[in-house]
Amino acid sequence: MANRTTTEQDVEAKENGWMTGFVCLRCGAEEGTSFRGYLCPACGGNLDVTYDVAALRRLWEEGRLLDTERADMFRYRRLMPIRDLTHAPRLRVGNTPLLPAPRLGEALGLRNVFLKDDGLNPSGSFKDRASALVIARARELGADVVAAASTGNAGSAMACMAASLGMPAVIFVPESAPRAKLAQLLIFGAHVIAVQGNYDDAFDLCSRVCEARGWFNRNTGLNPYTREGKKSCSFELCEQRNWVPPDWVIVCTGDGNIISGIWKGFRDLYDIGSIDRLPRLVAAQAEGSAAITRAVQRLRAENAPPGPALWRDLKIEPVEAKTVADSISVDDPRDGLAAVRCVLESGGDAVAVPDEEILAAIQELGRRTGVFAEPSAAASVAVLRRLAAAGSIGADDHVVCLISGSGLKDVDAARRAAGEPHRVAPDLDATLSLLEQLGLS
Ligand SMILES: *Cc1c(COP(=O)(O)O)cnc(C)c1O
Ligand SMILES: [Zn+2]
Repeated sequence: MANRTTTEQDVEAKENGWMTGFVCLRCGAEEGTSFRGYLCPACGGNLDVTYDVAALRRLWEEGRLLDTERADMFRYRRLMPIRDLTHAPRLRVGNTPLLPAPRLGEALGLRNVFLKDDGLNPSGSFKDRASALVIARARELGADVVAAASTGNAGSAMACMAASLGMPAVIFVPESAPRAKLAQLLIFGAHVIAVQGNYDDAFDLCSRVCEARGWFNRNTGLNPYTREGKKSCSFELCEQRNWVPPDWVIVCTGDGNIISGIWKGFRDLYDIGSIDRLPRLVAAQAEGSAAITRAVQRLRAENAPPGPALWRDLKIEPVEAKTVADSISVDDPRDGLAAVRCVLESGGDAVAVPDEEILAAIQELGRRTGVFAEPSAAASVAVLRRLAAAGSIGADDHVVCLISGSGLKDVDAARRAAGEPHRVAPDLDATLSLLEQLGLS
């Protein structure tokens, strides 16, 4: 009993929680918790946060890893780089449902298809997980202003979390961002800067302004903490399945930060002994924005063995992105190495689908499950259809499709898939005859 209390106090007292530092995903160089940069000082690669795995394993074994007073993503705060919950947003982030989708599965010849519906987060996308954690960490570190470049969702999420805490947020978006996402940004009171250029231009501009002003930069694929929030999705998924991971997780992928966060979550649980195997991860991309898929296909064709030598020299060729799926429209994936690593290390795959299949998947998903997804989110379902048809996924395999954003985020795209309503005069006879034509008599 005395022991217990000591451990409990340790959990609360540690300045950085159970975080022990950073490791570079490219060259393996390590940094301590006092490091305040974003990228590896040795090679410029992306950093991954490290933890005291032995201590966390002990907490798990003692049944005290989870913060059972929380139902949202901060239930798993001891696996996150924060001291306590003082600076966590006052919104419910995460704890999204894992929905069985039997009618969708049946149409594809699969018996165990599930949806993790992250469109139900406060700002309507998966990005809330990253922004909630980043803002908590930023405030612990004493930052006054947070900034981010975004195709829309990361910015909405940051603005939403910042609003809940009364912190200023500056968001750089490409001029082409969908209207609903821009509206959210403005409603949450962020300073919105529409950059006359694409997402990559907005990203570089944001990073330069943050450096000039000393603001905390949330940019995806640069800030090492976004992954630490995103991994909470895997924790939830495993807990929702009684700590039995699925066989496959299909993750819509642009920069590659979500998929690498999902992988990190499974890896964390595996390392501390909460689960005893790892799922295969599939990166779902749009054909018009498929830099990661191309890199994976090239490495597979070259038979390159995964490992440190491959990661150190890996180059991912940028593309000129063009797709209806704006959230995964990326020229130069900012977390491409991490994404390629998790696809290869998990024995998964990367698949790109054309826009028509993405739009069709929005409709199929809506009709067969009642879940309304934005185009990028529906890409996971389009890829599921491909893999099922190719026989890559077995009929009894357990598959989870991540639904990363709500369909209300981009109603214009949905209308392109949805068709038009039936028109009728406000007259009973006219309506009855229309119903007859529709076979509804
Ligand atoms: C950001 C986003 C993605 C892609 O995440 P990456 O980390 O860029 O790979 C997918 N879907 C939605 C809805 C998003 O907002
Ligand atoms: Zn490095």
